[in-house]
Amino acid sequence: MNHGKNQFDFDFIVIGSGFGGSVSAHRLVEKGYRVAVMEMGRRWTPENLPRTSWSIHRWFWRPRLGLRGFFNMRFFKHATIFHGCAVGGGSITYAGTLLAPPEKVWDAGSWTGLAKWKAEMPQHYETAARMLGVTENRILGPADHLLKKAAEAAGSGHTFYCTKVGIFQAAEGKPDNQTFPDPFFGGEGPERTTCTACGGCMMGCRYGAKNTLDLGYLYLAEKRGARLFPETRVVNVRPLGGASDGSAGYEVSTVKSTAWFRRQPRCFTSRGVIFSASSLGTMELLFHLKEKASLPGISNQLGRHVRTNSESLIGARTPGYSQDLSQGIAIGSGVYIDEHTHIEAVRYPRGSDTMGFLTTILTDGRPGPQRIGLWLKNVLVSLFRHPFKTVRVLQPLGWAREFVILLCMQTLEGEIEMRWQRPWFWPFRKFLVSWGEKVPTYIPKANEFAQKFAKLTGGFAMSMLPEILFDVPGTAHCIGGCVIADSSGHGVVDARHRVFNYKNMYICDGSVVAANLGVNPSLTITALTERAMSFIPPAVETQWNDSAGGATSSSLV
Ligand SMILES: Cc1cc2nc3c(=O)[nH]c(=O)nc-3n(C[C@H](O)[C@H](O)[C@H](O)COP(=O)(O)OP(=O)(O)OC[C@H]3O[C@@H](n4cnc5c(N)ncnc54)[C@H](O)[C@@H]3O)c2cc1C
Ligand code: SF4
Repeated sequence: MNHGKNQFDFDFIVIGSGFGGSVSAHRLVEKGYRVAVMEMGRRWTPENLPRTSWSIHRWFWRPRLGLRGFFNMRFFKHATIFHGCAVGGGSITYAGTLLAPPEKVWDAGSWTGLAKWKAEMPQHYETAARMLGVTENRILGPADHLLKKAAEAAGSGHTFYCTKVGIFQAAEGKPDNQTFPDPFFGGEGPERTTCTACGGCMMGCRYGAKNTLDLGYLYLAEKRGARLFPETRVVNVRPLGGASDGSAGYEVSTVKSTAWFRRQPRCFTSRGVIFSASSLGTMELLFHLKEKASLPGISNQLGRHVRTNSESLIGARTPGYSQDLSQGIAIGSGVYIDEHTHIEAVRYPRGSDTMGFLTTILTDGRPGPQRIGLWLKNVLVSLFRHPFKTVRVLQPLGWAREFVILLCMQTLEGEIEMRWQRPWFWPFRKFLVSWGEKVPTYIPKANEFAQKFAKLTGGFAMSMLPEILFDVPGTAHCIGGCVIADSSGHGVVDARHRVFNYKNMYICDGSVVAANLGVNPSLTITALTERAMSFIPPAVETQWNDSAGGATSSSLV
């Protein structure tokens, strides 16, 4: 069946407005396509962002419980996964760190050899860095200076670096909190205000200094005609007109994500679809659609090769410390304590103390009952020796002012699998369930480093309670699950992000990443999407028959 242009509501529907979704929307609109972006989360502005994490209903995303924020935590057997949910995706809650991975990542995983990655990617990283306004952090807070001293004490002072960030900073010697006309897009973007070093990036920037997607890619996409549907959750995508490969277009069904009762179901049609709902979100949606036979041809590799960056969160708390440790930007600096282990100094803004419920006295040792026993012993000994100080560090008030989180990431390989199953405790419906070998939560060298850090300040080295009690690491960097591969026997999309067995269907988000990056992933997701979009022809030239398996590298077209 041959649909004329106006038989479809849109040319492309993009599902999700994070890094992959915003880049896709902007580039497709530029090429002349009619684009809609469906986003489950809300739109945020400096006026409605929460002041601290105590405003749980404006921070956390659990709409069924009345929590309509922009940050979500999902609990799995193998990891607690933190992710964003908003117009602008994870960029609203992310720390703004934008790092390129080492070249060796293109030699690992199922994408190896499928394109001339090392030759092609630098230009896309360059574009991504320009569009996201990447610059070196010049705002070092007390926590960054402490990180440097601790690294010097550990013999790795030479590895200290200031992070590369997407934050609008004042020029050298100029005051902060000053508003300027668009500094990034030749006057086409919104006006921006310089960073005040409030440390609040992960609670959403209330000053307009963090380069969130709604102030960049997405802003430009909307300005040029993309239609954004906030609070709109996609629940179904099915091929139209009896063409099971999607060659006759797709019907996309949505509901209002923040409604309890009247969920306002709607249907839209489009010629092409881009899944950009993040690694977890895209896996979840595709598993659901494969099972309900809307998209039965999705590869059985769905859910394989999920990576969590081998992370561990530790830190140090110093009650009554002379300086406010929440000052600076959320992730201002980092060090390498050995060739595989990278530590960043992280903070929350003053008053955002709720994470304090999750931190406890640092405990070494292998996971399991022995470690829990040792942890109980450590707490009791500490209570006996320093009763007042111990109670002070275990209660949350003043946590953000006194705490430095040490985010430890390792480049070691380690992957898990996500399956779509009924968990034993809730057999009524299927959910994503994690499988495979456990990722280690105890990194001895990192614990040693936290001890050194605490000694410098006269404070306590701390661990995350769930890591000790349940041996489950926390991560904000879940990637993979729909990886790039040579065929549907090894992955879900080809090297141009085209979904195997479907036409004009793509995945552009963290789920396609096929190797452990060892650095925060957003710059890579942006660069990969820039590359994927570069292959889509302008609207006037398209034949609407793009499918996996053709040329995969720009050098091949
Ligand atoms: C606290 C925190 C700090 C972080 N800091 C950094 C950092 O400093 N640097 C870095 O590189 N990374 C950081 N990250 C990770 C980063 O946010 C993610 O890697 C990145 O956002 C992933 O991009 P994406 O395009 O895959 O999807 P996302 O940006 O996650 O966007 C996906 C969007 O899809 C929407 N969605 C999902 N399902 C549906 C559906 N069915 N219908 C409609 N919409 C849907 C979601 O609401 C979401 O907005 C951080 C994450 C967290 C949680
Ligand atoms: S430190 Fe504060 S002002 Fe600066 S980018 Fe982060 S939230 Fe915005």
